[in-house]
Amino acid sequence: MALNRNPHVLVVGGSDSSGGAGIARDIETISSIGLRTCVAVTAVTVQTHQSVAAIHHMQPSLVADQMRAALRANNVAAIKIAMLPTGRVILAVAAVLSENPRIPAVLDPVLVSSSGKPLVEPNAIEVMKRDLTPLCRLVTPNLMELAVLTGSDLAVDDEDTLRQGRRLLAAGPRALLLKGGHAGGARSTDILLSPDLEPVRFDMPRLARSMRGTGCMLASAIAAHLANGKSLEASVRKGKVLVFENISTNLM
Ligand code: PLP
Repeated sequence: MALNRNPHVLVVGGSDSSGGAGIARDIETISSIGLRTCVAVTAVTVQTHQSVAAIHHMQPSLVADQMRAALRANNVAAIKIAMLPTGRVILAVAAVLSENPRIPAVLDPVLVSSSGKPLVEPNAIEVMKRDLTPLCRLVTPNLMELAVLTGSDLAVDDEDTLRQGRRLLAAGPRALLLKGGHAGGARSTDILLSPDLEPVRFDMPRLARSMRGTGCMLASAIAAHLANGKSLEASVRKGKVLVFENISTNLM
């Protein structure tokens, strides 16, 4: 078979041996929406749900070769990007994205695991902002990632979050989903921000339980819905509902 014509989401990211986050989580999520997945591994991590014991980076050319092969083999309708361990890997991913400008890319800019281990070299953060975010349809930072990417302190309120978001938008991404899930309060509010639209808020009750890999799940679900031809706003709305349902039932 020359080309698999079923719509696929190309997942570019790290493996997590515990299955709580990373590629395993992405594949479960995309498949639950009925799409196929193809994969470019950027790092292999040794993790339990409590700690990260080791991280092994892939060579940049190996990452780019996996992406190009996945794109040749399948009808890739969206690209979901997460853990990018080094600046050179980021540049390799950016090169492949610029060869495929019509495929929407969703970047979850993961920087640190929930157990506190850095997943990206510190000097790669500027490369991510400068060379990768302008090629993305959507970037989905949480408030900590937003602060690091803009060189700011953690946003203290809505106004501060929007100010930092606008500063990051100036770097060139077409839209941001600013995730407030880790902030305090009774509600969990994310804000969709783009240069040409009023901010759109997605508000859910905050659940008492927590779950790993929710950022992976949200960005994967958004990419899958974009691949299905949904608008950005509809894709975010559906992604939020999926994450909420999964945290409530913890089925995945
Ligand atoms: N490990 C990998 C490979 C990831 O891609 C991510 C997040 O995307 C994490 C760990 C962090 O997940 P968590 O915050 O649930 O620890």
